[in-house]
Amino acid sequence: MLRSVSKPVENINGDTQKLIDSMAETMYGAPGIGLAAVQVGVPIRLIVYDIHSGDGKRNPSVLINPEIILAEGSIVYSEACLSVLDFSADVERSARVKVKGVDRNGNPLDIEAEDLAAVCLQHEIDHLNGVLFIDHVSSLKRSIYKRKLKKMMEKRS
Ligand SMILES: [Zn+2]
Repeated sequence: MLRSVSKPVENINGDTQKLIDSMAETMYGAPGIGLAAVQVGVPIRLIVYDIHSGDGKRNPSVLINPEIILAEGSIVYSEACLSVLDFSADVERSARVKVKGVDRNGNPLDIEAEDLAAVCLQHEIDHLNGVLFIDHVSSLKRSIYKRKLKKMMEKRS
């Protein structure tokens, strides 16, 4: 599922609103700073994020059908993912992005983000394209992770 390419949202209805609210709940519960719909099993182009997730105040941003229209600079940030168990790694991404999309009411959005917010948006938009942050790390680090995961699975079974 995480490898599938999510479909554009064609109309925003009551189900979409329910999905957004439950995704926000999941994100703050984790806690994490972003979540893509595909991570909760719904492969549509919708993300929620809040880089201040840890602060206790809940103010989730919603972005539907996001598209990166400009990316510049570079930043290295240690990333983790609610869908990638027990692993974090440095990932290089663009330091500034412009993203367009629509909000939960269908109003057009133009977002300029930098640093952590830019990293978060790129990470979540990757999910919509079936890409995980581990795809951006070296094959060596990835194989270490795969071995670790295999051991964890063996312990569980
Ligand atoms: Zn993720």
